[in-house]
Amino acid sequence: MDQAIMEVVSSSAFVMGPKIKEMEASFAEYVGAKHCIACNSGTDALLLALKAFRVNPGDAVFVPSFTFFASAEVIAMQGATPVFVDVDPVTFNMDVADLERKIDQTIRKGKLTPKVIIAVDLFGLPADFKAIRHLAEKYGLFVLEDGAQGFGGRIGQQKACTFGHISTTSFFPAKPVGCYGDGGAVFTDYDDFADMIESLHIHGKGSDRYDNVRIGMNSRLDSIQAAVLLVKLKAFKEYELTDVNKVADRYTQLLHDVVQTPMVPEGFYSSWAQYTIQLPDKETRAKVQADLKASDIPTAIYYPIPMHRQTAFDYLNVEENLCPVSDALADKVLSLPIHPYLTTADQDLICETLKKSLNN
Ligand SMILES: *Cc1c(COP(=O)(O)O)cnc(C)c1O
Repeated sequence: MDQAIMEVVSSSAFVMGPKIKEMEASFAEYVGAKHCIACNSGTDALLLALKAFRVNPGDAVFVPSFTFFASAEVIAMQGATPVFVDVDPVTFNMDVADLERKIDQTIRKGKLTPKVIIAVDLFGLPADFKAIRHLAEKYGLFVLEDGAQGFGGRIGQQKACTFGHISTTSFFPAKPVGCYGDGGAVFTDYDDFADMIESLHIHGKGSDRYDNVRIGMNSRLDSIQAAVLLVKLKAFKEYELTDVNKVADRYTQLLHDVVQTPMVPEGFYSSWAQYTIQLPDKETRAKVQADLKASDIPTAIYYPIPMHRQTAFDYLNVEENLCPVSDALADKVLSLPIHPYLTTADQDLICETLKKSLNN
């Protein structure tokens, strides 16, 4: 890692340069996409994708209510309207039946033009892309895979970050492959989307950076992060992804009789950005979280407020009971410590402390 970072420092190619090209080629090859464009964050990656899809005011973009704010934020940044879709209580991912209901409702109301489905690979598990791509085709919509947490996941042999017309990921340190700061990437098989995003992420450049053919942004990954990511990808491929799956399987063995543990559907493979259990209610969760904290075991609630209840989206005036499963999950979920280097001794301690808390 030191060597990789110092190589960039001594080359002084801090912005763009050979490390970026190398990183983009390696990440595209790993997921099996034709193009990878590295950028400044997972949020920018989503925004670049919506710009490439030409999402504008008057367009409807479908997004799960149970996700990180950025998935929905970028829709409003483009001036379009987010339409919140509920999630499945078992996989935490977009509920395809509710998606079709929301598409139908939007068409019937006739005020917005349905344009894009943003499907999130929540906690590392790919969304149900077979069904989602089917609906997209039926209604003439683009699919944007928000793979910020999904990098490394699979459906059958196909890897996450290849399921959308455009797919994105984040390299924020807490994600399955994290860099040493902010970073993100866009993946696509379509040459025209790739050309557009290549231009958009460097001020809408044309033939060179002082020939500007469209309004773009400054969203480059910096070369030190690219160097870090090349080292991290090697470890991820060789053992981290396998090891984090062993940790997750062991949690499930130890806890499935005690709490509701996360479920990976047949044929799916998760990269376990989070290991998220469900407790019976908000009070039990608060007690368990406090008891774990008293034993120096950190936990987190992803996510306490679904998108349809965020203050920032008050202006949408959505109906009260829009996404009941998202509401219920917000009160019950708790994410336990997980990473490829968690020792069995630490994991035993976490599970014992959790069980003790539930029995008292
Ligand atoms: C983290 C995350 C993002 C945003 O990524 P950043 O790199 O932090 O901008 C978007 N969507 C989801 C689902 C995320 O978890």
